[in-house]
Amino acid sequence: MLCYHRFSHAGHPDPFHNPVTATPVKELEKQLLWLKSFCLFRTLDEIATPSSSGKSWEVAITIDDGYQDVIDLGLPLFEKHKIPVSWFVTTDPVINPDYLPWWDLSSLLANRNTGKLRVNIDERTKLIDLSNNADSRWLRNTLRELFLFGSPNKANKFKQQVIRELSKHTALPRNSFVRPDNLKKAAASDVMDIGPHTCTHPNLARLSHEEQTQEILSSINALKAMGIEPINWFSYPFGKDWARSETTLEIVRSLGLKGCATTGTGYVYPDTPSYLVPRISVDGRWDIRAFKARVVFGPLTDTLKSFLSR
Ligand SMILES: [Zn+2]
Repeated sequence: MLCYHRFSHAGHPDPFHNPVTATPVKELEKQLLWLKSFCLFRTLDEIATPSSSGKSWEVAITIDDGYQDVIDLGLPLFEKHKIPVSWFVTTDPVINPDYLPWWDLSSLLANRNTGKLRVNIDERTKLIDLSNNADSRWLRNTLRELFLFGSPNKANKFKQQVIRELSKHTALPRNSFVRPDNLKKAAASDVMDIGPHTCTHPNLARLSHEEQTQEILSSINALKAMGIEPINWFSYPFGKDWARSETTLEIVRSLGLKGCATTGTGYVYPDTPSYLVPRISVDGRWDIRAFKARVVFGPLTDTLKSFLSR
């Protein structure tokens, strides 16, 4: 199973561009054509049930987060080649165009190289000069650390400070997520399934049972309110072990979902637990050779690494 995030094209500029998460659409087509030469494209439901196709390689394409470029740049290719895709959408930024996720704020900072910001953290004031790489990196790392491993309240306060300071230099763009009407249209495509990816994309492992339930269930309900059904699959934010807990697994099981996708690199086997289905996360900087190597050897390298570290 593969996991993409965003698609890019020179004629489709984006203030939140991040080369790691955005796969150039030219590369995407090369990747799909290579996969098509020896794989069967499957839906998640199909890949979770052992088949008797006779072809030994099957692949399911998934996309996380919910950006409009998936419709503008990716969907036409998936439709052209009749490739089924599952799109996992973080619902708050879809519903509220002014909601800027911290990683987009971080990309905005990375793509900007002028301006000074004054921020307070741990009762100390720091002056950040965006023309200075070390300063910019410190600010982006601090945002990331706070959101991944700090208290959500402290993280949000810090983000608001950065937004306030940055707004003094430039009008902040609205987020690049898909809007509800476009999402409904995409749901009508023959090749596209849509699933939830929480409301705000938090590190679920840091949240209480109640907060996790709210994040997951409200994103399901937000999609249902747009008429998107059935909802069978879920993808965990960040996808890694550290971003979910036993409680998370209890909740997704109790909601009766068919399965959940991680980004723990690996192949899907008949005995793969359906609540922990691994995916190979595609890096936008890979050329076709790197892509082939990661798809063929990536899961093998990871298995070997974990075996050697025992
Ligand atoms: Zn995500």
